[in-house]
Amino acid sequence: MTDEQSIENQATDFEALDRLEAEEKAKTPIEKVNLLGLSPKKMDAFFEGLGEKKFRTQQMLKWIHQLGESDFDKMTNMSKAMRTKLAEVAEISLPEIVYDQTSVDGTRKWVMRMPGGSSIETVYIPEKERGTLCVSSQIGCALDCSFCSTGKQGFNRDLSVAEIIGQVFVASQCLDTPGEKRVRRITNVVMMGMGEPLLNFDNVVDSMELMLNDFAYSLSKRRVTLSTSGVVPMMDKLGEVSDVSLAVSLHAPTDDLRDVLVPINKKYPIKELLAATNRYLENLPDRRKATIEYTIIKDVNDSVEQAEELAKVLKDTPCKINLIPFNPFPNSGYERPSNNRTYRFRDLLHERGFIVTIRSTRGDDIDAACGQLVGKVEDRTRRQQKYIDLQQVND
Ligand code: SAH
Ligand code: SF4
Repeated sequence: MTDEQSIENQATDFEALDRLEAEEKAKTPIEKVNLLGLSPKKMDAFFEGLGEKKFRTQQMLKWIHQLGESDFDKMTNMSKAMRTKLAEVAEISLPEIVYDQTSVDGTRKWVMRMPGGSSIETVYIPEKERGTLCVSSQIGCALDCSFCSTGKQGFNRDLSVAEIIGQVFVASQCLDTPGEKRVRRITNVVMMGMGEPLLNFDNVVDSMELMLNDFAYSLSKRRVTLSTSGVVPMMDKLGEVSDVSLAVSLHAPTDDLRDVLVPINKKYPIKELLAATNRYLENLPDRRKATIEYTIIKDVNDSVEQAEELAKVLKDTPCKINLIPFNPFPNSGYERPSNNRTYRFRDLLHERGFIVTIRSTRGDDIDAACGQLVGKVEDRTRRQQKYIDLQQVND
């Protein structure tokens, strides 16, 4: 073969290659954008990219989050051409519910399967004046608090915005009675399910924006609460972008004890945590208080002396205290104190001027109480296996 022939052949090969590539590209479906997970700002950018006006965002948010519609064809205020275009580039993909059960006390729990085999849990707690949805932010949790069964499952991954807001979507849909006038059953959302919300910061912030948005769930910022075990730098970052209510998982009046119960305390001790709490509150436009969560555990943090110390530690923090009687799970090694001991703890704090509530244990029969949410975590930290081994040694 002459040099010229060889160059010619090569050229033909390149053409064939280009053709093949183009064919392959045509076969691979373009990844569609899941509109369920777009914050209002990202939805604006999406419609702008399609050459559409911003008011489309309001229409779409309403269809998805208020009317529960996931079929573009039924979105009658959009032109046929627009709907066809949407179907080409976007989708509204919902989480898959694998379990939906209601407790004798009305608490309802959903388990949703996530791609990859893990699952997460969402709980609805109806009360006289309000309905609270407890939403998960991660599959598992990396922080390993010693009294929390989610922590014992290890950590798998962050949830996407679609997976976080999808929990609110699913619960709203399931709580609606077909044929009946729509009643707003979810009045409050607490980011207190599985995971540490501040360690999945961007997705949690985008999801909370949807919770607050008037065209989506339109909840009051006072009624959306983020609970953190104390990731101090992220608390400051939250203050820069959001004004939702804050709950802080304290659980101990001294660093020695908190180091054991909430290991992240070794990095961000109580003094720093409460200073960050105060900074967050100072940034809010109103005089809101933080909620201090205190899981009360028999013979660990339930003594009168500890209540006294707690009152001292919290004296400069505008807060109300929520006592959560420990919810047992197999081989936790901890127990719930007697009601009398819990009342004694509450009364002392009360005498010191604090507003104290005791969280009633709801949904116990369907394992929906705080710290009992486990889902199914395909653990990437190998903690679950260690925990199972430990359980077997103890059994
Ligand atoms: N990761 C966040 C939010 C999820 S947990 C946080 O830690 O704040 C919600 C609350 O339930 C936290 O205060 C948590 O410490 C508490 N909790 C965890 N396990 C518990 C258990 N077994 N019994 C009672 N409360 C528990
Ligand atoms: Fe994670 Fe919160 Fe459980 Fe601690 S209490 S392990 S931070 S979910």
